[in-house]
Amino acid sequence: MSKPDKNLIWEIFTGAKKQICVISHTNPDGDAMGSALAMKLLLKKFNHNVEVLVPNIYPDYYAWLKDADQIIIGDEQREKAVNCIQSADILIFMDLNKVHRVEGLDKYISESDSLKMLFDHHVDPDEVFKLKYWRTDVSSTCELLFEFINHFDKSLIDKDIADCIYAGIVTDTGNYFHGNITADTFRITAELIDMGINVVDINQKVYNTFSEGRLRLLGHSLSNRMEILPEFEAVIIHLTKSDLEKYDHREGDTEGIVNYGLSIKGIKISVLFIERAQYIKLSFRSEGDINVNAIAVKYFNGGGHKNASGAYFYGSIEDAISKLKQALKEI
Ligand code: 5GP
Ligand code: MN
Repeated sequence: MSKPDKNLIWEIFTGAKKQICVISHTNPDGDAMGSALAMKLLLKKFNHNVEVLVPNIYPDYYAWLKDADQIIIGDEQREKAVNCIQSADILIFMDLNKVHRVEGLDKYISESDSLKMLFDHHVDPDEVFKLKYWRTDVSSTCELLFEFINHFDKSLIDKDIADCIYAGIVTDTGNYFHGNITADTFRITAELIDMGINVVDINQKVYNTFSEGRLRLLGHSLSNRMEILPEFEAVIIHLTKSDLEKYDHREGDTEGIVNYGLSIKGIKISVLFIERAQYIKLSFRSEGDINVNAIAVKYFNGGGHKNASGAYFYGSIEDAISKLKQALKEI
């Protein structure tokens, strides 16, 4: 019988020194940042040469994570990013199961004959991954990573790694509010606290460091840019480029806005449209059995999870909204 992937992965991690590039997704969130940095910190303990690469800049409120300042930002440090991919023996994808989500760099990944590994909790991974530690019934990639390390040698989880793992769990569950939260999610959190993390301090850094503009943008989104579609039990919110400019938008400022739609009684779907320079970014959230991933995949070539998905639309914000309204009629 062949060995499970996790054993093969562990043999590689504990084996000969390798050049490793840890990659996560565009618009990195807490789980992308936490899982990629925790993976790097783990691999450093085995003396590998490791770098973390993300396609674009992460929000400020993750800058305190250990080694965040050493992350290669694809669209700012292109040569370093390409080199990170081309020189790697191993590419590890964290919280990211689609190569095309490493915008601008996906072609280098496809050309690379390095070993491609996946640690992730999204549905429907690409086929390129030779080794996978993958399940969708967990809160976050960080929870999966904890489980993986815990299986082999929990003593490797130091305070810095524990901080990263907590950052991923707390943000991917919306502060233990939604998603695949299980007893294990809480058990792992309790263990992280035993390992010395300070949850109040981290929550403060992640959630209580808004700029004035960010808070006012949230107010504007809800007061002036929210449309309720009672016939579909849905809410849509849209933000234009000039809205973002007016409120001095910084990366990460729109994180969480889409969730407010679901806080209205009787609303089961919330969709946020954000007009960016090259495309419209869509965020989908739903409650219960409503599968927004299916809408994201079928109509917008996106993906994610059943209750939280995203996509890009190339066209005007008006066209994106009418396409969504049409899709809601059809489902
Ligand atoms: P968000 O709305 O927060 O950007 O994304 C919600 C979830 O969907 C996250 O798990 C995110 O990784 C995933 N996601 C966001 N955009 C895309 C996309 O364009 N394609 C795919 N496959 N997944 C996405
Ligand atoms: Mn995640």
